[in-house]
Order: sequence, then C-alpha cells, then structure tokens
Amino acid sequence: MVKCGQCGGELRRVHRTFFEHLNYMAVYECPKCKRREFASRRFRYHLGPACRCPLCGTYTVVRLKERDRIDRIHSGFLIWLKRLAGGSRLYHCRWCRIQFFDRRKLVSEISTPKAPPTRPEVKPPDGTEPGR
Ligand SMILES: [Zn+2]
Ligand SMILES: [Zn+2]
Repeated sequence: MVKCGQCGGELRRVHRTFFEHLNYMAVYECPKCKRREFASRRFRYHLGPACRCPLCGTYTVVRLKERDRIDRIHSGFLIWLKRLAGGSRLYHCRWCRIQFFDRRKLVSEISTPKAPPTRPEVKPPDGTEPGR
C-alpha cells in the first residue's frame, strides 16, 4: 500500500497515459486530495535535456575524448538506438565506473535556472567512494 505524501490517504493505482506508461512503473492517485505519485523507472534517465548516467541517474558525468580501457561500456537496446540516431558522445560515470554513449549535453552546458542534484540518487552498490 502506498500512502499519500500530502494527506496520508491511501493511494490508488490509476491508468497511465501513453507517455506515463513509458516513463513510470506505476502512477498512483490520492482519492482525497488528487495528489499523484509516480513510481519511476530507469528508462526515465534516458529522457530529458541533459546527459545522465543510465544506471544511477546522476548528472555528474564527464565526457571522454576516447574510450577508457579499464571501465566497461554500458550498452543496451536504448543506447544502441541512440547511437543509431547519431551524434553520440562518450561519457563516463565515476560512481558506476561505466562508459556510455549519449547525444545530450552535460548539465553544466545547459543553462537552467535551477541546478539539478549533483549527487547520484542511488548509491554505488558496494558503497565505496569513487576511485577517480
Ligand atoms: Zn492525499
Ligand atoms: Zn552512474
């Protein structure tokens, strides 16, 4: 059971629109105050104007000039699709120690009035500090 963050009422799972279906695992709505809660999925990291790590979602990624020989390349169907779309650049996440292709810009290159969080939303699995 999921509780409403506003009034504490019991949230009900509601049908998603096509767009919501792509972005969220589930959408809940509070019958009292109509507040909506979204259960996100990793796929969401592939959307948005700025480049972010496909695993942990951090915006703190660096662009690589060439492939790093040590860290692995994260790839998957979506990455492959994006490479097909062209203009992909190679990025590195120091939290997950992966390289990945993305054609979006770094968040620091996009001028936004409010800066997004720079810390990853999910801690690295082993809890160690980034080694770079
Ligand atoms: Zn509520
Ligand atoms: Zn990461």
